Amino acid sequence: MIKVSKFGGSSVSDGTQFKKVKKIVFEDNNRKLIVVSAPGKTAIDDNKVTDLLYLLHAHIKYGVDYENIFLMIQKRFLKIKEELSLTFDVNKAFLELKNELNKNISLDYLVSRGEYFNALLMSEYLEFVFVDSKDLLKFKYNGQIDEEETNRLFQQALALHEKIVVPGFYGSYPNQGIHLLSRGGSDLTGSIASRAINARIYENWTDVSGILMADPKIVKNPNKIQEITYHELRELSYMGANVLHEDSILPLQDLDIPIHILNTNAPDEAGTLIKKTCIDQTSIITGIAGKKDFTVFTITKNNSAKKLKVVQDVLSVFQKYNVNIEHLPSSIDSFSVICEAIQVENVFFDLIGTINQIEDITHIEIEKDMALISVVGRNMSTRPGIAGKLFGHLGKNNVNINMIDQSSQEINIVVGVKNSDFEKAIQTIYEAFVE
Ligand code: ASP
Repeated sequence: MIKVSKFGGSSVSDGTQFKKVKKIVFEDNNRKLIVVSAPGKTAIDDNKVTDLLYLLHAHIKYGVDYENIFLMIQKRFLKIKEELSLTFDVNKAFLELKNELNKNISLDYLVSRGEYFNALLMSEYLEFVFVDSKDLLKFKYNGQIDEEETNRLFQQALALHEKIVVPGFYGSYPNQGIHLLSRGGSDLTGSIASRAINARIYENWTDVSGILMADPKIVKNPNKIQEITYHELRELSYMGANVLHEDSILPLQDLDIPIHILNTNAPDEAGTLIKKTCIDQTSIITGIAGKKDFTVFTITKNNSAKKLKVVQDVLSVFQKYNVNIEHLPSSIDSFSVICEAIQVENVFFDLIGTINQIEDITHIEIEKDMALISVVGRNMSTRPGIAGKLFGHLGKNNVNINMIDQSSQEINIVVGVKNSDFEKAIQTIYEAFVE
């Protein structure tokens, strides 16, 4: 059964990293479909090739001299070629690219060259066949992925060639015009490829040995998550934990293809396994994630007014101004609408003005600078007293809770605290449940 192995930017940033990739790929004969990103940073102060390509496009568009940037990009690929003594003619490829540069060059085409050239180099180095993603990942003209055609093309490619290297991050429209996925999209290419060929596993090779239970900038040396369900990971990603593109899970859910997050720099470490169901019950919580800067609108209605009607009227105002709502906790005569501050920034006064015109509203209270923290764990639902323990510990540490929300499947509890209490709250929760 085939394994799809995707190597992220830091895993393919230079010749040294390419060597690590080769060792990994050659260790397992099932690694037959390799997806690569564009070269990432080789050091903290270095640039990602994709960022440079975006910059190059801006220079061309605004008529600014782009020679230096163009050379910087070319040199990144030349360095890989030379370090590995490859034959691919980088200079010729860049000369051709230069001839294509003009004010109307498509952003998607230009930016996709990062993955394209890197996959060409990797295919030569591994001696696997290069197959261009423009001939595999197909989009409809409305921007949606043409799943049927994409599946067919990936299957066909593997029927024709035993082992292939595919550039991540882009595909093409029916007329072959290149279309990019969103940033970090090579993760998605890996998922889509895995679904297409019904892979046994989707390996996502990166520069960390898996997903941590909490942000290491907030919690010192947090434990690694060994196993996590698709659903739990989506909750954590939604609240800011980012190791994997959050849409990568969707294509794999139905076929129950596990994703294995692994470290190219420490390939023997176990990593994190993401799958439909996990049976490990040793930990009550699986992870903690959170985000700062939410705004809470607490709306109080007239005693006699119908709540459903008032809620409906208020929500339609949020819809009118295109503001996404995160939570909607409510009590008898009041309810709160919680949204990201950035979403309301530009429409704040219009929004309040329009809500104020709704009949039967007696009071609106606004609270800014709230942080939301999501405590995620499939094992929480089977054990009583979790919420009590959580609130008890936060209280003991003087963290005031402004909002609580628990999903019906009890997979997560969301608490709202002041921005200034954010880090302390996460540390307290981690200590209470993990240490
Ligand atoms: N190179 C692209 C980016 O930096 C896509 C990827 O690496 O996933 O966003």
